[in-house]
Amino acid sequence: MTDTIDHHQQTIIETALQMAKERLVFGSWGNISLRIDTEKIIITPSGIDYDKMQCEDLVLVDSAGTILAGNQRPSSELPLHLAIYNQRQDVHAIVHTHSIYATSFAIVRQPIPPVVEDLVQIVGGTVEIAEYALPGTDELARNVLVALADRNAVLLANHGVVGVAAEITEALKVCSLVEKTAQSVIFARLLGDVVGLSHRDIETMRTFYCEEYRPRKRDKLTPIEDAGEKTNE
Ligand code: 13P
Ligand code: ZN
Repeated sequence: MTDTIDHHQQTIIETALQMAKERLVFGSWGNISLRIDTEKIIITPSGIDYDKMQCEDLVLVDSAGTILAGNQRPSSELPLHLAIYNQRQDVHAIVHTHSIYATSFAIVRQPIPPVVEDLVQIVGGTVEIAEYALPGTDELARNVLVALADRNAVLLANHGVVGVAAEITEALKVCSLVEKTAQSVIFARLLGDVVGLSHRDIETMRTFYCEEYRPRKRDKLTPIEDAGEKTNE
């Protein structure tokens, strides 16, 4: 069990460094958590810069938020993370970022439209806005649940982004693609009118991602690589 926790801690630290490298967060803002089983969640500490964060700074909590291990305070957004895990059994990782373009949408309180393939596939539709509430409050957690619904990303008004997924690498990818789409839509609006996608095409792309594309990416060897290896034998 300790080995498993060590492994998860290492994964969170690597994800946190990648999140900072992609400039999705600055300083110590943003946070990450991972549900390791029905009763245990590991979450980043509050107020520690990512370039200084160590495995031992991460905090292990139960599903009610009681601290089980760790010497630091858990992220101030723990109520938000717990609320999502409670509502969405399919979610095992949560990444919260403060990226520039997505936050611009959050400041003007406009949803990010589902207008590009990768975003539509990974998020499942529009990135809606959770009504404003102060960071770290139960009210913010409640507002997030309403706006997130069954999709994988949400904007927090005047604040940032929350991305969720079954795996931590995918939760980070959700936040990266939300940021990329926000930037693309801002540039597209400078060039002309944004053309939307039909509800039917959005549903088709999401289904394709869940049933074929994502499982395909999880396979270590594609059939082509497999065949290539056999030919070389
Ligand atoms: P923590 O450092 O407490 O995780 O808070 C950062 C943040 O982004 C709050 O919304
Ligand atoms: Zn925040």
